[in-house]
Formats: sequence, structure tokens, C-alpha cells
Amino acid sequence: PFDVLVVGGGPAGAAAAIYAARKGIRTGIVAERFGGQVMDTLGIENFISVTATEGPKLVRGLEEHVRSYDVDIMSQQRAKALATVDGLHEVTLESGAKLKSKAIILATGARWREMKVPGEEQYKTKGVAFCPHCDGPLFKGKRVAVIGGGNSGVEAAIDLAGIVAHVTLLEFDSQLRADAVLVTKLKSLPNVTILTQAQTTEVTGDGQKVNGLLYKDRASGETHRVALEGIFVQIGLLPNTDWLRGSVELTQRGEIIVGHHGETSLAGVFAAGDVTTVPYKQIIIAMGEGAKASLGAFDHLIRSSVQ
Ligand code: FAD
Repeated sequence: PFDVLVVGGGPAGAAAAIYAARKGIRTGIVAERFGGQVMDTLGIENFISVTATEGPKLVRGLEEHVRSYDVDIMSQQRAKALATVDGLHEVTLESGAKLKSKAIILATGARWREMKVPGEEQYKTKGVAFCPHCDGPLFKGKRVAVIGGGNSGVEAAIDLAGIVAHVTLLEFDSQLRADAVLVTKLKSLPNVTILTQAQTTEVTGDGQKVNGLLYKDRASGETHRVALEGIFVQIGLLPNTDWLRGSVELTQRGEIIVGHHGETSLAGVFAAGDVTTVPYKQIIIAMGEGAKASLGAFDHLIRSSVQ
């Protein structure tokens, strides 16, 4: 068996694998797609100490760093179940293979929920964005929309209002669903328009970049157009934990509940990054959490009786 088996090859998983391998213990990493969400990212300007880089380039660096250690890398492999058998943890892959390990680090990340309307896919990274912390500054002085009036949408709108010229917030429901204190703050801002009962139906563009959106006013049934340069979709981040239901404790939203050392509800199973309850989903945070969970797993191993 492995001493540490990492599931997921994004920033959290890569950091966890490197920290484990550096302890001289048997380390494996299984990932459906090495690099995770970073592979889908064009410009990265908040990875501290690197002024600007691109996702695929950062992923090459991640992979090179993992490969410089004795780590068994199993990519293009999807995990489908986690079980504990005779004190060892066992991960079953879609291929049917079973991997045993004394400790497991879950780092399967998350994905943004999409609107699934025409134009959204075409204009991703060309005006359609999902992360205000990442892409907000790119829209300095421009007009943007935020889709979604929950806490993340309202937080994003308040954040963006300080950077961009104007923010239109569109909520499908008849009222915003964010905490009252956030709604009060949002309503106090001069450059924000709030539209409720607004269903976004299309992202429009000139072929190169976003130039607006169409929404249906659900009260009147009429369609309206908003001219703008950017759209931040904030309708939920979905953790990749469907395969873990029943094995480790999850929140209602499906995030793995972790403690201060990255431990989950199952002894010997740790978790890190976007898949967990850790607040703020960012590359630099995922890496730190991966390192932490790996050190947590090592601490667990040196105290455990499984040889
Ligand atoms: P992920 O990157 O999601 O990696 C998850 C890994 O698990 C992948 O290897 C995946 O293939 C694998 N996996 C999933 N399910 C399974 C399974 N069942 N079996 C095996 N493997 C599985 N953050 C920033 O800090 N700066 C930015 O500029 C930035 N821009 C972004 C732009 C976009 C478009 C997106 C989508 C995200 C952006 N982020 C940015 C957020 C950042 O990418 C994430 O916070 C970070 O990648 C999380 O790392 P992670 O390792 O936890 O998960």
C-alpha cells in the first residue's frame, strides 16, 4: 500500500504530493486531469511572487515539481469510491482498479455552476468570468454584470463596484438571498443597479468580446438588453464530492468538512483545497491547504499502528 495517496492533481493535490514525498514515504497521486481548474485559466496575476503567468504554464511547473520526486502519478484516472478495509483506506477507480493507502488526501476541487445560456461558453475568458478576486481588476473602469443575488453574488458586486465603472446585479428570484448586512451595503453604492426577477437568457458579443447580455423580466415577460463589457457568474461553486457521499462528512452544499490539520470525519483521511469548507477558493490557498493536509497526514502516520 501507499503511505499517502492523493486524489486530485490541481494545486492542492500537487502540493500535498510534494510535501508527502519529501518525507521519504510511499506517495501516489491519482487525477482525472492534472492541473485541475488552473488548466482552464488564462491569465493569473495573484500567484504571489509571479507577477503574471498563464494557467497551462503554471501547471507545467506543478507537474515538473511533482515529477522531481518519487511520486507514483496516475493521471486520466477517475476515483469513484472510498472505503476502509482492515484499517487501510481503499480508493476504487472507474477502471475497476483498487488503490490501498494508510492515509488519503482528498483534493478533487470544484467547478463553477454555469448559466447554460447561448454565448456563455463562447465568451468564457473573453468577458465571461467566474472569479472576482482573479479577474476583477481586468474590468477597471468598465461596465459589468454579476449574475446571482446570493452571498457570493452580492459580495462580488460590492467588491467590483470599487473597481469598475458600473455593476448591474441580476437575481432570478423576486428578492436578493444574501445576508441583510450585505444587501444594505450593496444598496448604498451609487454605481450599482439591482434587477430582481431577471433571468439572463443570452450573452452577446462582437465575436471577440462580450458586449452585453439579454435578460427576461419574469414579471412582465419582456426581454431587455444591458450593454456591458464583463459578466461575473456567481450562481454556485460545486465541489467534486458526489463519489464521497456516505464516506466522509460533507456540508449541505457538498463540501468536505475539515479541521485545522485538514482532517476529515474519517481517521486517516484528509482533504484540501476547493473541495473543502476552507473559505476563499484560490490557487495560493489551495496550495497552502494541500501542504497543511499532507503534514497532517504525516503526523497521523507517525502516531498510527498500521505498518
Ligand atoms: P482543482 O484545481 O479543481 O483540481 C481538482 C483536481 O481533482 C483535478 O486534477 C481534477 O481532475 C481532479 N478530480 C476531480 N474529481 C476527481 C475524481 N473523482 N477522481 C480523480 N480526480 C478527480 N485562482 C487564483 O488564485 N487566481 C486566478 O487567477 C484564478 N482564476 C481562475 C479562473 C478560472 C476560469 C477558474 C475556473 C478558476 C480560477 N481560480 C483562480 C481558482 C483556482 O483555479 C482554484 O481555486 C484552484 O485550482 C483549486 O485547486 P484544487 O487543487 O483545490 O482543485
